[in-house]
Amino acid sequence: MPNALVWFRNDLRLADNPALQAALEAGQTPVCVYIHAPDEEGAWAPGAASNAWRHCSLAALDARLRDRGSRLRLFAGPSLQTLQTLALACDAEAVYWNRRYEPAVEQRDTAIKAALRRQGLHAQSFNGSLLFEPWELQTKAGGPYKVFTPFWRTAIAQWQLAPCTDVPTQIPDTEDGPDGIGLEVLKLAPAGGWDSGFWESWSPGEEGAREALEVFIDGALRDYRSERERPDRTGTSRLSPHLHFGEISPWRIVSAIEGERRVGTGAGIDAYVRQLGWREFAHHLLHHFPHTADANLNPRFDRFGWARREPRQFTAWKRGLTGVPIVDAGMRELWQTGWMHNRVRMLVGSWLCKHMRQHWLEGARWFWDTLLDADLANNTLGWQWIAGTGADASPYFRVFNPVAQARKFDPHGDYIARWVPELARLPPQARFAPWTHAALAATLAPRYPARPIVDLEQGRAEALAAYQASR
Ligand code: FAD
Repeated sequence: MPNALVWFRNDLRLADNPALQAALEAGQTPVCVYIHAPDEEGAWAPGAASNAWRHCSLAALDARLRDRGSRLRLFAGPSLQTLQTLALACDAEAVYWNRRYEPAVEQRDTAIKAALRRQGLHAQSFNGSLLFEPWELQTKAGGPYKVFTPFWRTAIAQWQLAPCTDVPTQIPDTEDGPDGIGLEVLKLAPAGGWDSGFWESWSPGEEGAREALEVFIDGALRDYRSERERPDRTGTSRLSPHLHFGEISPWRIVSAIEGERRVGTGAGIDAYVRQLGWREFAHHLLHHFPHTADANLNPRFDRFGWARREPRQFTAWKRGLTGVPIVDAGMRELWQTGWMHNRVRMLVGSWLCKHMRQHWLEGARWFWDTLLDADLANNTLGWQWIAGTGADASPYFRVFNPVAQARKFDPHGDYIARWVPELARLPPQARFAPWTHAALAATLAPRYPARPIVDLEQGRAEALAAYQASR
């Protein structure tokens, strides 16, 4: 059997894997390869939490390959030379991979494809992670979308799910070529084990993704539409890191949840598929506006009067010590679990960009390092949306009131009490704004900041004034 390299990247699964499938269907022996080359990802090399997940996910993928007669060979960059050398050593006739859409990676991959073809190899890439490629949907004028609703309307009209393909039962292997290096050599797992708390709530790898989907379908899917905004409950799928690392395909998720459509589940299913639509939209935007990972999509904000960087305030935000309970709860959930509820991501983002008037990139970079699901397309969309600088964004003058939001979405203060235990002894109604119950807070929550680092009204007024001044 001839050999073909299958270059794994953010597609760490065996089911629904078009690159792997291509090798098997062509009757080639897949030489399964992963290349560690973070310096090829430009300004957005993976962060620490993301690396921790990748370490576990690579181990899981290797184990699954070995169960089927194959294995994952690991190398450390540069990618092109590694692939070229390996193709020669294995006498491979083809190289297959599933596409990524981060600007620096897209550029690199285009150059790699051309170089491999010049070498006489059959180099082919596939869509392994999206329902629609970013260039498939266009406005009537033939351009990219900047507003979600028409984007999604077009998407629904052109809906055609890719077929699901099962995990192959056997995958042939070859002795040709080098074995590669050990996973530990990549140093992806954090030194000091600060990630140990993460793995109580997460199980990286394809099997973990499958289980998370099952748990969601059996539990939160039905009431997803109403419960998805509640950080105090498990109302969402928590599939985001699995999706980012490609441990499950979005079309498998859609086809599995569509299979649950019956009386009472339709609203949850529609709402969930729409959220996957935001992921598609994020990739569409990043592909068409690649500068937006680092710069405002809306250039009007290039003149905006962001406040001078206040390192002490920024540290308080990162550590969950702003004195605003819902913000602090979110930042601590992030630190301890590597994840944060979407509603709370919006609240901590709004507090940073509006009350603290810090540039959204400051927040985006902290999330990038601490989120297990850190994803350049989704993170950029999220931060530009909350800062008001992006496409279809929440307007800058919409400043979330973190106290009113906490009352609405964490009505019993359970989420706050869970992540900010200093406040747990306060009665629920005092947890949202403890400074308004100063005497009680001094007695029952003496270790929590006595007041917010930025006065809520003043911060809001100053944000709006800066916005007016920039118009
Ligand atoms: P569910 O509600 O179960 O949604 C299912 C899937 O849909 C998610 O896994 C995700 O892939 C996608 N999705 C849901 N909401 C969004 C959204 N608003 N934008 C894009 N995709 C969405 N998501 C990331 O995956 N990586 C990030 O780095 C990231 N950074 C963010 C930063 C900010 C400031 C904000 C406001 C949002 C960010 N999000 C990011 C989007 C969203 O918060 C997470 O996708 C979601 O909380 C993941 O939890 P879940 O899987 O339970 O979501």
